[in-house]
Amino acid sequence: MSETSRNDAAGRTANRVPDPFGRVVDYLRISITDRCNERCLYCLPAGYHGWAQRPDHLTAEEVVRVVRVAAGMGFRKFRLTGGEPLVRHDLPDIVCALKKIPGVECLALSTNGTRLAALARPLREAGLRTVNVSLDALDAALYRRITGGDVAAVLAGIRAAVAAGFERVKLNTVLLRGLNEGELWPLVLFAAEHGLPIRLIELMPVSRTKALCAQNFFGVEEARRLLAQRDELIPLPAAYLGWGPARYCQLRHTGALVGFIGPLTTPHFCETCNKMRLTADGKVRPCLGDHGEIDLRAALRRSATDEAVRELLLTAVQRKPREHSFLGAYQPCRPMTALGG
Ligand code: SAM
Repeated sequence: MSETSRNDAAGRTANRVPDPFGRVVDYLRISITDRCNERCLYCLPAGYHGWAQRPDHLTAEEVVRVVRVAAGMGFRKFRLTGGEPLVRHDLPDIVCALKKIPGVECLALSTNGTRLAALARPLREAGLRTVNVSLDALDAALYRRITGGDVAAVLAGIRAAVAAGFERVKLNTVLLRGLNEGELWPLVLFAAEHGLPIRLIELMPVSRTKALCAQNFFGVEEARRLLAQRDELIPLPAAYLGWGPARYCQLRHTGALVGFIGPLTTPHFCETCNKMRLTADGKVRPCLGDHGEIDLRAALRRSATDEAVRELLLTAVQRKPREHSFLGAYQPCRPMTALGG
């Protein structure tokens, strides 16, 4: 298995592990819980009872250990997600511990924002650098219909995150035909007014809910066309705003930064994929749209050495498929909330 070396920003030599398709995988998204305090139509199957029990969840110490080993093999970016990561009470402690690990260059969080008003400052102080907040609608009734939650709490969370001085706060909106097309322009204006990039994301078949059907699908090209009726979209370079799959445009008049994430309609979408996932119950998942997983938790609880944990992570990198299987006969198995969005 070949590893490449390069000098990172601090001048250290970092090992980089390419997958079989030459992609350097250096980004781990970690689900720290599969529980969520919202009920998004497209995410949580009705009556979902599959919550991992406490002993199944990785402990804070186990999460920290995996990150330490991963950082030692060249992973640089780590995102805490879920479920809803803010429902986990030891989140600030986890952030604090991860922050101290050499090689962790970027520590990020994805949240629905409902509990961010109280937690933004402690999380920033613990060392979290960037936050993505899901926001599918500004209209309170529509927001409640889509998520079951309270948009006022989310907006307060976003304001608190901005005030806490995160390096970046981004908004994420899932495109839902018949539900939030009419919200796109208000959301873009809101993002521009607050100086926050907003990403528009295609619905993926990652769960078994009624909302995940072809009629509700709404592609990024159509979103681009809708926005182009209001403002001029100026494409930005491919790697704009870092590590992710979004392709950004700036809107000439409003100044909004809008990212388009189109896993289902963008040709070659997976060519630059740099990430793997760690599920709340300790499975490494090389690709969201492929069922392959490797059980890390079993190894951690068998007192595996760091070298053995590293080998499992390397195996996962080697098993990364060329592309996701969403366009084939993909059948979701565990829902997104269990896998880590
Ligand atoms: N609770 C956190 C949040 O709301 O960001 C983190 C977990 S959530 C699963 C992460 C992201 O996945 C959210 O932006 C959510 O909208 C998105 N998501 C969930 N199910 C999806 C689906 N079927 N298609 C596209 N995005 C989805």
